[in-house]
Amino acid sequence: MVSKEMYELGAKRSVIRELFEYGKQQAAIVGKENVFDFSIGNPTVPAPECVKEAMIELLETKKSDEIHGYTSAQGDIEVRKGLAEYMNSTYKSELKADNFYMTCGAAASLCITLKALTVNSEDEFIIVAPYFPEYQIFIKSAGGKVVIIPADTEDFQINMDLLEKAITPQTKGIIINSPNNPSGVVYSEKTFKNLADLLKNKSKEYEKTLYLISDEPYREIVYDDIQIPYVPSYYENTIVCYSYSKSISLPGERIGYILVPDCVENSKEIYTAVCGAGRSFGYVCAPSLFQKVVLKCLGKTSDIGLYDANRKLLYDGLSKMGYQCVRPDGAFYLFVKALEEDAVNFSENAKKFNLLIVPGDDFGCPGYVRISYCVDPEMLKRSFDAFQKLRDLYK
Ligand code: PLP
Repeated sequence: MVSKEMYELGAKRSVIRELFEYGKQQAAIVGKENVFDFSIGNPTVPAPECVKEAMIELLETKKSDEIHGYTSAQGDIEVRKGLAEYMNSTYKSELKADNFYMTCGAAASLCITLKALTVNSEDEFIIVAPYFPEYQIFIKSAGGKVVIIPADTEDFQINMDLLEKAITPQTKGIIINSPNNPSGVVYSEKTFKNLADLLKNKSKEYEKTLYLISDEPYREIVYDDIQIPYVPSYYENTIVCYSYSKSISLPGERIGYILVPDCVENSKEIYTAVCGAGRSFGYVCAPSLFQKVVLKCLGKTSDIGLYDANRKLLYDGLSKMGYQCVRPDGAFYLFVKALEEDAVNFSENAKKFNLLIVPGDDFGCPGYVRISYCVDPEMLKRSFDAFQKLRDLYK
């Protein structure tokens, strides 16, 4: 006997994974060059040179236990100190090593944070469509309840009226993600200000702390001089979940952190609960070598210009064909209105031209498809003919 719930979760692949696997099968039949796989968000731009240099230096100069041994459960103290200094010089924050807990990427950061905050099964966490589908799984697994607010398809910012209605005395927190997967939208200053005001007012009204969980794996992947703010400067009760999966193209190395700044109410208590949640999951001592690698790469990113070139090519190309695209200011996704109401069917039709695009339904936003453009630019250029054929199917 196994847990039915866990069995079902394990047996069911995500739509993204389904498409990705389908793409591999199709490639064997029609040739890799004839499959246009825009399904998965796996960075294709190489990790910056500092990653390789740091690895070589560490491997050549450090003793085995210094780079492969256990670090403290919350992460190496020098790494966390370095992170605090980097954040302080970048954002004028006043962070210390003990505000950081190193993790195996944003997924672990979110799971630990949610587990640390969830007191009982009545605790509600609000997610804003379109959202990263795993949020629902993470919240349920922490023992909380998922509350979804529908997408504001006007501009894909947060609809504050809907959010206000969704906040109840049971609300524990809200997860936001900017730059956003799947829309590519970056929340505006106005959104952050309005969100902070609303959360402050509601905290007062219900006499409880509402936590903002800011999921930021795409923080540095922004275009046209857009800056992502330090979210706790808008709203103090913010816990940041970060990852190096996208910014320096290390998704397989599983490295990130949780930041619990001192300005969060009862920050020490929360940080201790984060350590406890990490312990209860066995998520202690994030990969030791890569903790030290990221310390040597602070402030570096992969070549965002390469994603930017793909973004322009795709946005301009598809817009010219008559597709309605949400303007992406960050991340590496283009969110496009399906040419029929049923985006699942639209995605099925796209497969006829070996075009693999993900229906928005699983992101809580039916009627749209996500195109992940962290792909080879040559593949992108070759795909235009298929996009045109898909367009013509709906004429
Ligand atoms: N959050 C968002 C919005 C993501 O897009 C992803 C990965 O695609 C994650 C979290 C998980 O990131 P990680 O690979 O660092 O666990």
